[in-house]
Amino acid sequence: KKPVIAIDGYSSTGKSSISKIIAEKIGLIHLDTGALYRGVTWFALQNCINENGSINLEELFSSFDQIELEFKNDNGELVLFLNHIDISKEIRTNEVSENVSFVAKQKEVRDFLLQSQRSLAEKGGIIMDGRDIGTVVLPNADYKFFLTASIEERTKRRYKELLSLGIEANEEQVKENLIIRDKIDSEREIAPLRKADDAIVIDNTQLSKEETIDNILSYIKK
Ligand code: C5P
Repeated sequence: KKPVIAIDGYSSTGKSSISKIIAEKIGLIHLDTGALYRGVTWFALQNCINENGSINLEELFSSFDQIELEFKNDNGELVLFLNHIDISKEIRTNEVSENVSFVAKQKEVRDFLLQSQRSLAEKGGIIMDGRDIGTVVLPNADYKFFLTASIEERTKRRYKELLSLGIEANEEQVKENLIIRDKIDSEREIAPLRKADDAIVIDNTQLSKEETIDNILSYIKK
């Protein structure tokens, strides 16, 4: 049976891009769970806004039955569709990044997304990355890793990523967003960002993407 692998860690430690390559190399499905929280946040920003521009949580919670999040398999990579629209680019905007941790700390939102994450892992053969995969979503995963890197290095990586997506960015703002999200994600009551007791920690500040991948693969039994 193919393994179930959980990758957690701080924002912009390369979790998703590393998970994607590992999935390709050893034939797993890859699920970026951050995309789910970003998708719900994007929906809220489109449909559940108060007059003062803030997100109306009650309206969001009562709209869950109108949110159909679907993954389409594109060569092993699950691409997120919301109500049949490909929102993979929209969910990377600054507006979503600035609101996602507030949305993700709501118990209602986490409950709404939990079951679909778990059911995807039932058959094995998946690598899932996020903040609470090893601790809450898949506590029985075969392998758990926790990625970390210095804030300077993470800022550089996210800044480059945004530019490559054609999204305007400012390094100082990117850094601030990473710090704020990590703080909200770590301090929330439900499923906080935390290393599982049995996770292997990898600080990849000085490692290239390939080196981090090789490091992770060295633990996975052939
Ligand atoms: O992984 P990414 O940076 O795209 O995640 C965006 C946000 O989604 C995180 O900052 C966090 O607030 C939330 N998230 C979460 N639990 C996960 C994955 C992401 O709360 N498993």
